[in-house]
Amino acid sequence: MVDYVNIFMARLQAKNPGETEFHQAVQEVVESLSLVLDRHPEYRSAKILERIVEPERLVMFRIPWMDDQGEIQVNRGYRIEMSSAIGPYKGGLRFHPSVNLGILKFLAFEQVFKNSLTTLPMGGGKGGSDFDPKGKSSNEVMRFCQSFMTELFRHIGPDTDVPAGDIGVGGREIGYMFGQYKRLRNEFTGVLTGKGLTWGGSLIRPEATGYGCVYFAAEMLATRSKTMEGKTCLVSGSGNVSQYTIEKILQLGGKAVTVSDSDGYIYDEEGINAKKLEFIIDLKNVKRGRIKTYAEKYRNAVYTPVDRAKDYNPLWDHKADCAFPSATQNEINAKDARNLLKNGVYVVAEGANMPTHIEEVRLFLDAKILYAPGKAANAGGVAVSGLEMCQNSMRMPWTKQEVDSRLGIIMQSIHSTCVECADRFGTPGNYVNGANIGGFLKVADAMMDQGLV
Ligand code: NAP
Repeated sequence: MVDYVNIFMARLQAKNPGETEFHQAVQEVVESLSLVLDRHPEYRSAKILERIVEPERLVMFRIPWMDDQGEIQVNRGYRIEMSSAIGPYKGGLRFHPSVNLGILKFLAFEQVFKNSLTTLPMGGGKGGSDFDPKGKSSNEVMRFCQSFMTELFRHIGPDTDVPAGDIGVGGREIGYMFGQYKRLRNEFTGVLTGKGLTWGGSLIRPEATGYGCVYFAAEMLATRSKTMEGKTCLVSGSGNVSQYTIEKILQLGGKAVTVSDSDGYIYDEEGINAKKLEFIIDLKNVKRGRIKTYAEKYRNAVYTPVDRAKDYNPLWDHKADCAFPSATQNEINAKDARNLLKNGVYVVAEGANMPTHIEEVRLFLDAKILYAPGKAANAGGVAVSGLEMCQNSMRMPWTKQEVDSRLGIIMQSIHSTCVECADRFGTPGNYVNGANIGGFLKVADAMMDQGLV
């Protein structure tokens, strides 16, 4: 089976050169799935794996727009429709200068398994642009979003492909894109999720990824008869996922002591309380400022700027119980992983997608800590997006309590699927295998049922 994995990966790399993040994401899944293919040769002969790594459709397009100085700007847009085996394509849009095909393909691939784990009928997709919303005026962001949607609208629809937000795409961007879609199609449908509450959005959607990630961590702790109460937590990022991760940590009696952006990080030994969190949310979502400002306001907190000469991130080098990487991919390298273990961290729940490199995942698994990969731990966001689609179809909103309780139940179910699949395939406690196998089986069976399409 090692041979099969090696040959499969060599072919994938040759066919998709330079797409390193995509190779990384596939490698992790294929290693887990070798356990399944041993027992289910029918998947192998139906070439399920070979088909699942090939996007069903990929669109790449030009996005011309005009900046506030009257200069013409040109960005590149993408939508990767990876798998529709179990439902319409579903996955976020990312606006960040680092966006490229390899990054979006890794995200779309992960999304297929994540969406399957949620128990809801959603296929997998991802998209975005190399546009950087940072430093742009709201008018510039609006013109860009309108131009982006002017091409994207012909590829998506409430029963075809339903995008959401991701890095650089929050409520403001979803609003501009929804407005343009509605204008072009002359219809008011649930074509995007993460919408505003007065025009089709769901309560708890902004909170869902962060809340869900902490619910998942609490489930893992419960397997060792522990709770979040009194736990010291390291959180990276200061965007959507981080903000609501911190809020839920607080609500469950834990203490978050770090927060960051791409310029540096804050260490606040006293903990980020509700008032300080309110300050962060206003700073990031309204003022669109930098996290450094936190230490100017709260004098006991320490700000450390990013030092590119360092071979590790000092954010991960503090005494703690839990870590919630919630910024971006590959933010935990070998030294960071060793620092986390050295500092006593025994719970890692990934709010971000693939924040830990594959070798470091192995370190966590060998150390037998409670390690939850993003496709399980951060599935709460897309789960509530699925609930938003449901409410849109019914044209009936649910209460906050209803959505939050459904989110809690979904996170519990994802957790038990991971535990059960890891056990069934002989690797108890391995949430990586559990998530990959649990997500795969449903999609693979649907592909078998639907024939060679
Ligand atoms: P966001 O609101 O845009 O926030 C992203 C945060 O991460 C910001 O603080 C940003 O700092 C930081 N960051 C981004 N790229 C970075 C880089 N290359 N280096 C260092 N810091 C970086 O995005 P988000 O929605 O919270 O998403 C964060 C992660 O969660 C991503 O991996 C995303 O794929 C994943 N995720 C999100 C959702 C969701 O519902 N939003 C669901 C599942 C998974 P700057 O402001 O300085 O860029």
